[in-house]
Amino acid sequence: MTDSQPKALVTETYSVYTSLRSAFMVTTPPPLSPQVVHPVYVIGGGPGGLAVAATLRARGVRAVVLEKSDAVGASWRGHYDRLRLHTTRRLSSLPGLRMPRSFGRWVARADVVRYLETYAEKHELEVVTGVEVFRVERADDRWVLHATGGRRLTGRAVVVATGFNHTPRLPDWPGRDTYTGELLHARAYRNPGPYAGKDVLVVGAGNTGAEIAADLADGGAGRVRLAVRTVPHIVRRSTLGWPSQRSGILVRRLPAALVDRVAALLARIGVPDLTPHGLPRPDTGLLTRARQGAVPVQDVGLIDAVRSGRVEVVAAVEALDGPDVLLADGTRITPDTVIAATGYRRALEPLVGHLGVLDDHGRPLARGARCPREAPGLYFTGFTNPISGMLRELSRDAEKIARRIARLRRAGRGA
Ligand SMILES: Cc1cc2nc3c(=O)[nH]c(=O)nc-3n(C[C@H](O)[C@H](O)[C@H](O)COP(=O)(O)OP(=O)(O)OC[C@H]3O[C@@H](n4cnc5c(N)ncnc54)[C@H](O)[C@@H]3O)c2cc1C
Repeated sequence: MTDSQPKALVTETYSVYTSLRSAFMVTTPPPLSPQVVHPVYVIGGGPGGLAVAATLRARGVRAVVLEKSDAVGASWRGHYDRLRLHTTRRLSSLPGLRMPRSFGRWVARADVVRYLETYAEKHELEVVTGVEVFRVERADDRWVLHATGGRRLTGRAVVVATGFNHTPRLPDWPGRDTYTGELLHARAYRNPGPYAGKDVLVVGAGNTGAEIAADLADGGAGRVRLAVRTVPHIVRRSTLGWPSQRSGILVRRLPAALVDRVAALLARIGVPDLTPHGLPRPDTGLLTRARQGAVPVQDVGLIDAVRSGRVEVVAAVEALDGPDVLLADGTRITPDTVIAATGYRRALEPLVGHLGVLDDHGRPLARGARCPREAPGLYFTGFTNPISGMLRELSRDAEKIARRIARLRRAGRGA
């Protein structure tokens, strides 16, 4: 595919379900302006990429979403069955299309997928599936995208929306390669069915590890242990109808010292002390932690499971040895299965690392409407983990990016 074949792209456009049409509220997108030669390329057909494409479309700017999998919302298709949004439906909708009330307040994973499909359709987005972008390069004042099948796509504006949770991170524990038990990353976990009666160790007490541990305990696993290195902040998803996400939005710009103190007080009132069960209250404040990238764990069953002994908290994993797992306190245990809920990498290096646009941690140097200094026209969205809810921030970033690109185009700076 080359620039001389823009129509080929259009014909590859993704088409999605129509059955939900009446359930959604949507504004009809305006007709596109006739600038078809250089669309804005959006890499990634998750919520972030779709939101950018829709907000560009709403401003009459043509955007083409390049998605490596065979459908939009690939990440959400792959998450575990029980997952629901821990951010509210209202604060998780993307620009220009509300999630229907019938989805309830805490939207189920399958409904998120249906929503994303409908979102692409309602906004008439051009989504080309099965196209992975491997590398972005600068050529004069243009960006060249190297993609599946030897494609070279050229544009003056490119939005990278390949996802914060891009590549599973599996710690390089000593003995990992010769471990004889079952070892998988949380990415591969779907439901407790295969673990009925089994002894399972979940590693990592972030939102994913906490929920998988509770899911296993509810779903008939024989024994569930949760290995914790850093004690998490645990918050109720909502208190007296007030969602914790709203608190996150209100406090996120306040001084951390103040918020940390108030949050500690509220935690003592609202969250039982789990110290006797191996989960003491953290000694670093909630907002301080969040600003370091560790958002609090929303309780969707962990507290009860830990208090009732259905999930046992154990020390961090240090090494694997044959069938055994060695813990930081010297204990040696022999679970049937280890599920590593140990996070993801953004893995942006192969794509844009050579452009000098990433910091030492592999994070983009700029986000939203701001481009890295050396890379005008290269935008990033979805590479932070905000306490206010990532879907909400993706929506806000999308509006900012689209506004800027549309303004530059009107001014004749950026095709
Ligand atoms: C378990 C879990 C629960 C979450 N729950 C919430 C929640 O309740 N509320 C909330 O606000 N946020 C939540 N998030 C965070 C965030 O909203 C989601 O991760 C969201 O999917 C991020 O959207 P994204 O578009 O940035 O990335 P993704 O959804 O990961 O989409 C990226 C897309 O890019 C594609 N892609 C990647 N690389 C390439 C490439 N080189 N070329 C082409 N395509 C590529 C991928 O196939 C994928 O479809 C959750 C995250 C996880 C992991």
